[in-house]
Amino acid sequence: MLTTAPRGTRDILSPEVEKWQYLEEKIRQHCHRYAYSEIRTPIFEHTELFQRSVGETTDIVQKEMYTFQDRGDRWLTLRPEATASTVRAYLENKLYAQPQPVKLYYIGPMFRYDRPQAGRYRQFYQFGIEVIGSQDPAVDAEVILLAVHLFADLGLRDLEVQLNSIGCPQCRRAYRQELRSYLQGHLEELCSDCRTRYEQNPLRVLDCKEERCRKVAGEAPALSSYLCQECREHFELVQGYLQSLDVKYQLNPNLVRGLDYYTKTVFEIVSRELGAQAAICGGGRYDGLVEECGGQPTPGIGFALGMERLLMALEKGGSKLPGRAPLDVFLVALGSRAQGAALKLLYQMRQQNLRADKDYLGRSLKAQMKYADKKEARYVVILGEDELERNVVLIREMATGEQEEVPLEEAVEKILAELGGVTDGR
Ligand code: AMP
Repeated sequence: MLTTAPRGTRDILSPEVEKWQYLEEKIRQHCHRYAYSEIRTPIFEHTELFQRSVGETTDIVQKEMYTFQDRGDRWLTLRPEATASTVRAYLENKLYAQPQPVKLYYIGPMFRYDRPQAGRYRQFYQFGIEVIGSQDPAVDAEVILLAVHLFADLGLRDLEVQLNSIGCPQCRRAYRQELRSYLQGHLEELCSDCRTRYEQNPLRVLDCKEERCRKVAGEAPALSSYLCQECREHFELVQGYLQSLDVKYQLNPNLVRGLDYYTKTVFEIVSRELGAQAAICGGGRYDGLVEECGGQPTPGIGFALGMERLLMALEKGGSKLPGRAPLDVFLVALGSRAQGAALKLLYQMRQQNLRADKDYLGRSLKAQMKYADKKEARYVVILGEDELERNVVLIREMATGEQEEVPLEEAVEKILAELGGVTDGR
C-alpha cells in the first residue's frame, strides 16, 4: 500500500512528461491564438454544484464522484469535470460584467470513480474551453474548429467529428414522450441500467455503450425531427459554418452526451486509432446552465479533451513526440580541489541556458564518462587537478570523441559556439 498509488491513478515521469509538456505548450499556443485566457479553479467544489449541473440521474453523479465530508462537515467533491466549476467562477467573479462572451480554457486533473482500463483512469487530465455569453452558432463552429485545428497541428489523422443537436428543453419534452413510448416496447432488450434510465432520463439510453441497447437506440425516433424552429435554424447555421471552414463531420442522431446540462449542439471527436475508449474530445452547448447555477439566463458552450487519450492516439498514429532532454554538458571534476571551480563553471554554463550537470557521488573518471553517455551529454568538460593548476579544461565532443584543451575562462563560450549558441527552448 505504502508504495502503490491508488487504483486508477499514476505517476507521469520523464520521458513521458516531456510529451505532456509539449502538448500543453501546443494547447496554450492555440488558445492564445483563438483569444482564450486561462482559468484555474479549485480541484474540489461543493457537492451540490455537480449534483445540480451535471444532473442527479447521470452516471457521473450517481456512481462516479469522489465525495467526502471535511472537518467542518461540508460536503465536497473532487471535480469530475470543469464546466460546472467554470460557470460557478463566472458567477462568483462577476465575469458577466465583463465584455461578453467570456472565453476561457483550463488544463488540469479530473476525478471519476470508474472501472480503470486502458484510456480510463480515476484521476485523468482534461484540457477544455468554455465560451460563456453568446448564442451565436459561429461560436459553436469556432469551438469545434479549435479542437480540429489543434489535432491537425499535432499531426493527428483518422479522426471523426460527430455532431448532433439535442434541442432545447421545449423540443426535448415532446421528444421524451415519443422516445419513452418507443422504449416501452423494448424494455426486455435493454440492460438493467437502461431500464432505470427509461424511468429517470430516457435520452441516456441513446448513448449506452451496450450492444443490445445500441440496437434498440438505432431504431429509435430521431431527436432531429422534433427540433423546434429556433433549434433547427441554429443547427443549420452551425453546419453551414463548419462546411465553409471545411471541417468534415458526421451527423450522429444518437449522440446525446452523458451530462444533463447540454442543449442544442453536441459533438464528440473520436479517434479510429483507439479501441473501446475512442472519444478524445466531447462538448456542446449549455444554454441553461448559468441560470441553473443561480445566474441570469446566459448561453454557453465548450468541450473537454482527455489528455491521456490524446497522447495514446498520437502514439498509435506514429507521431513524433519529444523524449527525454539530453544534457548539453557533463562536467567531470576530478579530485577534491577541482570541486569548487567545477561548481562555479557549472553555474556559469547554466546562466547561459546550457543544460549542464556534474557527478555528486565521487565516481571515477571512467564511471563519470559512462554516466555522461547515459545522460546523452553532447559535450564532456574535464577538470582535473592538473588542468586546474594550468587553468584549462579539456572539452570532449561525445559523438566524435574529439578533444580540445581550452583556457578555463573560455570554456563556456567555446561550447556555446560549438552548439551554435542556440540552446534555449529545446
Ligand atoms: P466527458 O466529460 O465525459 O465528456 O469527457 C471528455 C473527455 O475526457 C473524453 O472524451 C475523454 O477523452 C476524457 N475522459 C473522460 N473520462 C475519462 C477517464 N475516466 N479517463 C481518461 N479520460 C477520460
